[in-house]
Amino acid sequence: MPHSPDQQALLEHYVKKILAAPVYDIAVRTPLQPAPALSETLGNRVLLKREDLQTTFSFKIRGAYNKLVQLSDEQRAQGVITASAGNHAQGVALAARELGVAATIVMPSTTPELKVLGVRSRGAEALLHGESFPFALAHALHLAEQSGCTFVSPFDDPDVIAGQGTVAMEILRQHQGALDAIFIPVGGGGLIAGIAAYVKYLRPGVRIIGVESEHSACLQAALRADERVVLPSLGTFADGVAVAQIGAYGFEVCRFCVDEVITVSNDELCAAIKNIYDDTRSITEPSGALAVAGIKQYVARSGVRDQTFVAIDSGANINFDSLRHVAERAAVCGVPA
Ligand SMILES: *Cc1c(COP(=O)(O)O)cnc(C)c1O
Repeated sequence: MPHSPDQQALLEHYVKKILAAPVYDIAVRTPLQPAPALSETLGNRVLLKREDLQTTFSFKIRGAYNKLVQLSDEQRAQGVITASAGNHAQGVALAARELGVAATIVMPSTTPELKVLGVRSRGAEALLHGESFPFALAHALHLAEQSGCTFVSPFDDPDVIAGQGTVAMEILRQHQGALDAIFIPVGGGGLIAGIAAYVKYLRPGVRIIGVESEHSACLQAALRADERVVLPSLGTFADGVAVAQIGAYGFEVCRFCVDEVITVSNDELCAAIKNIYDDTRSITEPSGALAVAGIKQYVARSGVRDQTFVAIDSGANINFDSLRHVAERAAVCGVPA
């Protein structure tokens, strides 16, 4: 995909913002770790970018901190408000506490309890509203308008996108050899936009593959329609990516930087959680396993061998009680590794 001068300028703009993002005040550089069993079974080398080990157990702290740190003194004094399916909420709560900013966070009433507790324990105010993210978002925007607080989008903001893009900067430093594709989970598109901008600017030959839940495939729908469509309904098993419309800023990048989008079922996610467990002895949340599920489908379909893939293991915030369901489905569908 050769880029036009305008597109190249957009990527350069993001690369500069990514390189300047002060995320390590609060975030850690996570390991890029081989998945030996999965690699062996798939006949391809799979590396996991362990964002499940990030502070707050997901990458969202990167974008949240990069956004909050750029606010003016006046904006900081007013406080911030956000809507989130849970992980961005915890990122904003922690970043706000670190910077001494008051934060109000609207989360869908279906948010796993540990994500709600993760917010409250970090001193932010958590409001539960609406059955899924779009309802929580509408409420948060309304409150922001009333109160004069700054609204912090979980994905549709250049500073958030740049913060998430620091994941790509680490990957390219940690792995300098051959790299065929990076598989990235997609909710509102902030993570994939940040990664895609950085990677397509520096290593345009590396394929950028988005992976979505088939119950919230808003990037695939937008790429097909060539505009941002609103999905009529959402499934929330993968609650971290249950977004009805891809973000405008992210889509501007994705439309020329994403090579392919794969959608996966809930059962494929359960099986992928098990694959990750087998290789790492760590549990991921459903959204965190999207990229591995995507690699499995990609290899099964294309039959490729001996390639090197990175999967973003994006989060680990799953209620302990949900593990029963995950283990059952992984066993029932018996999807081999
Ligand atoms: C937010 C999130 C995603 C998706 O990120 P977007 O920037 O919304 O596309 C994926 N996985 C987890 C665990 C998340 O919390």
